[in-house]
Amino acid sequence: MKRIGIINCFEVSKKCTASGCFKAFHARTGAFDRYQGEEAEIISFVHCNGCGPDALENVMEKARRMKEKGVDVIHLSTCTRSRCPMYAAFMEALGYQTEVEGFTHAKKKP
Ligand code: SF4
Repeated sequence: MKRIGIINCFEVSKKCTASGCFKAFHARTGAFDRYQGEEAEIISFVHCNGCGPDALENVMEKARRMKEKGVDVIHLSTCTRSRCPMYAAFMEALGYQTEVEGFTHAKKKP
């Protein structure tokens, strides 16, 4: 059983219902197609804590706590990939600490 954690964009989370991520997970589409035929569950869904000088530190702290709770794979959300200036830094730092996927649902708009 793969246990998944998702980190999304705080700014987007102010309006987003997260339904796109959950829909893609249940349909095994987007980044979740890798779990086809495999048991998997989302056990953690958090936001990044917002923009600012501590953004990377905050994301790494969330990742550390997710690992403590048993998360095997952390997905950065599609909204983070499409709008976050820190995205590359998050991916690099997370990659040293855990298995990381760079998105969740497939992009709606081309
Ligand atoms: S740091 Fe990135 S992911 Fe977090 S709120 Fe700002 S733009 Fe969104």
